Amino acid sequence: MSYTPDKIRHLTLSTARLPLATPISDAKVFTGRQKPMTEVVFLFAEITTEQGHTGLGFSYSKRAGGPAQYAHAREVAATLIGADPNDIGKLYTQLLWAGASVGRSGVATQAIAALDIALYDLKAKRAGLPLAKLLGAHRDSVRTYNTSGGFLHASIDEITENASRTLAAGIGGIKIKVGLPDCSEDLRRVAAVREHLGASVPLMVDANQQWDRATALRMGRHLEEFDLTWIEEPLDAYDAAGHAALAAALDTPIATGEMLASVAEHERLIAERACDIIQPDAPRVGGITQFLRLATLADQAGLDLAPHFAMEIHLHLAAAYPREPWVEHFDWLDPLFNERLETRDGRMLVPERPGLGVTLSAQARAWTTDSVDFGTA
Ligand SMILES: [Mg+2]
Repeated sequence: MSYTPDKIRHLTLSTARLPLATPISDAKVFTGRQKPMTEVVFLFAEITTEQGHTGLGFSYSKRAGGPAQYAHAREVAATLIGADPNDIGKLYTQLLWAGASVGRSGVATQAIAALDIALYDLKAKRAGLPLAKLLGAHRDSVRTYNTSGGFLHASIDEITENASRTLAAGIGGIKIKVGLPDCSEDLRRVAAVREHLGASVPLMVDANQQWDRATALRMGRHLEEFDLTWIEEPLDAYDAAGHAALAAALDTPIATGEMLASVAEHERLIAERACDIIQPDAPRVGGITQFLRLATLADQAGLDLAPHFAMEIHLHLAAAYPREPWVEHFDWLDPLFNERLETRDGRMLVPERPGLGVTLSAQARAWTTDSVDFGTA
């Protein structure tokens, strides 16, 4: 059977505001750098081809940046109409050069990410494969831990209740936020959660970049006794040298990378051995095309992987990473999609549905604030 080239016939970009049930606070709120988060803004890309294949991708932003991502995508998306959606490498390069004067990182590539992810979703669906299988999976399920139950606005009692519910739902690890103005309060919360969980449940902490180098080292030493799976973002995201020194000084693994906005920025972390576990975020680094480049570099350097947020995408990417990874369980995005990801025995199962395996819900449509079409419907 020979291949018949297909063409992108139609493309919709839309933006939606997902409200959060409670205002969310991590250490950045307690240092006065950010206000509690009340919503997440999404950029969706939906692609349809002449042969009737479809793809869905998304990008997102927290607090600010959503309108800019949408505006940039609107400017460059038309270049895809009439193109063969299978040529993802070529199309990515075209999209990149269409917006080259505003750079190859941050908002510019986060806008492209939604399109790139939609192209991968489409390609996997055309092949009849879950995205993880299209990429070449190492496993059919990925270890998973929960973050959404352990924020700083929650009391110790709320966190331990959330943790029990999380573990009962088949999720294997618990992450809680640290970085309160009073370090002894952080230690009290970690001790209480460790005692509640027992010694065998994986526990992580996340300081969201709010410690200085001296505090991170002191806290890191205090935290060694809790046998943490990792300490996340102890320092400013761009302090590669500080992270490297900390990683060398502590037994507890250091994780970071979620705030970085390109492969080039991650390359510095990798080159300086700034972490044990790298935490890229596919929408933030410019999509799956970019994520795969950095995953190759990270694996080559011997790093473990725990992608940030957006489990609907990262489950597939983590399943295709050679070293045993983690995927971050966040229930926030559930209302946007009709499907639910299954968790069992501490792991998240790669869905058997082709592509990413998600479709936009009526609620996502109801939260849509603007949309634009290209090509012919
Ligand atoms: Mg984090």
